[in-house]
Amino acid sequence: MKDSNCIFCKIANGEIPSNTIYEDEEFRVILDNGPATKGHALVLPKEHYSDLFEIPEDKLGNAIVVAQKVAKKIKAALNCDGLNIVQNNGEAAGQTVKHLHIHVIPRYKDDNQHILWNPTSPSSDELENIRDTING
Ligand code: AMP
Ligand code: ZN
Repeated sequence: MKDSNCIFCKIANGEIPSNTIYEDEEFRVILDNGPATKGHALVLPKEHYSDLFEIPEDKLGNAIVVAQKVAKKIKAALNCDGLNIVQNNGEAAGQTVKHLHIHVIPRYKDDNQHILWNPTSPSSDELENIRDTING
């Protein structure tokens, strides 16, 4: 299903032009227009799924394989020093476009980006509690 109000549906299906670096029946991969680094790309399913919780397993499996293919292509072309795969779900996690996408972000020594988090220091008890809550 496509969502007629969704910009990534339109881009993924070629209704809005984009800088495409890979395409197959299920996905289009485009260059992010506000890139963290040179070659920052987005894997877009052609069908509309708002986030990780909506996309079916088989489609998600194919999406990560596409991310790997594109990562190899970018590394070969741009000779990056590292690469992050990032996938945001929900506003609290920084998702701004509500059409699932996987960020493929090549990294370069001294690229001055910070795609990391501040580690916290929960006690063993707290970690065990969280484990038990998740495990039910
Ligand atoms: P997120 O914050 O995970 O939802 O990421 C959305 C990403 O989409 C951001 O990195 C934006 O720069 C990028 N973006 C938004 N609109 C466009 C567009 N029309 N073409 C290319 N990238 C876009
Ligand atoms: Zn969409």
